[in-house]
Amino acid sequence: MYVDSHCHLSFPELVADRQGVLDRMRRAGVSAALNVCVRMEEFPGVLGLAESQPDIYATVGVHPDTTESEEPTVADLLARAGHPKVLAIGETGLDYYRLKEPLDWQRDRFRVHIRAAREAGKPLVVHTRCAAADTLRILKEERASEAGGVMHCFTESLDFARAALELGFYISFSGIVTFRNAEELREVARHVPAERLLIETDAPYLSPVPYRGKVNEPARVVTVAEKLAELTSRPLSAVAACTRENFIRLFRPPASESLTGPVFPAAEGSRIM
Ligand SMILES: [Zn+2]
Ligand SMILES: [Zn+2]
Repeated sequence: MYVDSHCHLSFPELVADRQGVLDRMRRAGVSAALNVCVRMEEFPGVLGLAESQPDIYATVGVHPDTTESEEPTVADLLARAGHPKVLAIGETGLDYYRLKEPLDWQRDRFRVHIRAAREAGKPLVVHTRCAAADTLRILKEERASEAGGVMHCFTESLDFARAALELGFYISFSGIVTFRNAEELREVARHVPAERLLIETDAPYLSPVPYRGKVNEPARVVTVAEKLAELTSRPLSAVAACTRENFIRLFRPPASESLTGPVFPAAEGSRIM
């Protein structure tokens, strides 16, 4: 049983064949998926899907690359985060790759999300690209470790991973770990402790090898798990179990048939190896 900790089922590429996407996910043994919100206007659809499907969960937030969205306040996020199927705040963070300075608005937006997460007592889904130093600085300044969260679609250095782990964050790997030119990232993946590891597709993007170029979907999170099993010389079943248990510990989904099972406690003072 696998869990896709980050996908965008409400993006048009995946809405077109929604039933097929859900069927293939379930047949592949993917027992839950977190459908991540990137615009306030998208949220009603994200929540609606989570309300209608027992194995789909929601987040609320505005992506750092989103320029066409209502700008959320802490109160806006809190009002939506109260729903039991809304498991996290995000995706949020910083992205200096696509948009260029001045990006004060992006940093302000990130701070608003962190404050909402702390107040809601829900974890953060953090996106960071070409903004490592500012991401860590703002997480610390806003005391994000009180909320916890995940560095999603991880592509940063081992040093960044170590800093994120120190803040109590989890590290989520996507299909990028299967890409030919991602040797450095594979080295990071070998060093993240099992109790802080998550897997995701970031569907519809980032299809893993051998599906590159195709629309990605939650069923393919199994390929990410297989790659991590190979990289860490663990049985596939162990990678599936630890990433599922980590998902439950971090996001605390309401009791659900698809996710029941034992949860091991986080190891005290776990450190990157
Ligand atoms: Zn992202
Ligand atoms: Zn995303």
